[in-house]
This record gives sequence, C-alpha cells and structure tokens, in this order.
Amino acid sequence: MSKTKKDTPALGADYSAKMKSRYAEKVKPSAKIYSKADRRDNRIVQNMTEEAQQESQKGSSCHGHCLCGAVSFNITGDLRQVVNCHCGQCLHTHGHYAAYSAVEKNKIQFVNDAGLKWYRSSNEARRGFCQECGASLFWERLGASTISIAAGMLDLAHGIKTIGHIYCSDKPEYYDIVDDLLKFPQSSAGELEGDNS
Ligand SMILES: [Zn+2]
Repeated sequence: MSKTKKDTPALGADYSAKMKSRYAEKVKPSAKIYSKADRRDNRIVQNMTEEAQQESQKGSSCHGHCLCGAVSFNITGDLRQVVNCHCGQCLHTHGHYAAYSAVEKNKIQFVNDAGLKWYRSSNEARRGFCQECGASLFWERLGASTISIAAGMLDLAHGIKTIGHIYCSDKPEYYDIVDDLLKFPQSSAGELEGDNS
C-alpha cells in the first residue's frame, strides 16, 4: 500500500511500463492523466491474486469494471447485443433507461468483487451494484443461465451494438426514442436475440 502511494506521484514512463506489464488494459499508450479512481484501480490490481492476474492476461475477450474498481471482471464468452430497457425499475436504478448486454454466467470471472452487493428488486430478479461507488452493473433473473451487464461497464466490447428497445410502454415523456430499432411495449420475449427479460 505505501509502495503505491510512493509511486503514484511519479506516474511516468517507468510506472506506465510497470503497470502495463501487470495489466495491459489499464495503461494506454497515450499520456493519460491519472485520476483518484485510476489510482484506486491500480491499488486493487496490485492486490490481485496470482490466479486472478493470470486469468486477466489469458486472452479474455472483454474486461469490465465499475467507476471505482471495487467490482471488476473479465468475460471470456460472446456478449449479447445491447438491448435498451425503459422499465420503471431500470429508470430508478440507472437514473435513465438502461443499456444491457448479457453473457452466460459461467463466462464471467470476477477479478474483484469486494464492492459487489445484490439488491432483490423483484420476486424474479436481483440487481448487482457497487457499494463503494454506487454503480449499477448487473441484472439477473433468478435461476437463469445468463447475467445482464450494463453495457457502459465494458471496456473494449468489440462487435456489439444496440439492437432494440424493451418496456417502451413504461417510458416517461421526458425523452423520445428517435432511432429506427425494434421497439417492444414489454419484453421482446426472445424476438430480440437473447432477451427474455
Ligand atoms: Zn465501484
């Protein structure tokens, strides 16, 4: 810990190279200005177990994390395309409509779940959030084989795009849906690939 503090003010090329070798996604080649949150991320990375470090470098297809880094994870499977949910619960959790991808549960590996808390939001589902920074990360139907992931949590999520809107009948009047994507009054019931919410 004290080592991190001592190293932080420098944040020069040496530090960059060191972090890059530890955790490739965290340090970009550009001259990034490091924030407090980044330093926290780095500290958490330094606390990672050997196993987690190996896992994070093992060619995972995508990495994701909350604002502060107290929840971070790797995904090794295919991500579902993004579906925008306009239901009242998503509005009240995310502050606006929610953009969710999804993945098979066994394709997500947590690098850090120290901040992860679950809120039982209905009889059928629970929502995962970070108790440190308040980020809303997950929606999970109880007993389902998949977990929905708020798309904004994902870094380097190549190849996924927004494909439609669900629960449009709940949409408040303060915004309009102006794209031409498919719209469903409630769940698309599978018409949008992988959407059974
Ligand atoms: Zn957090």
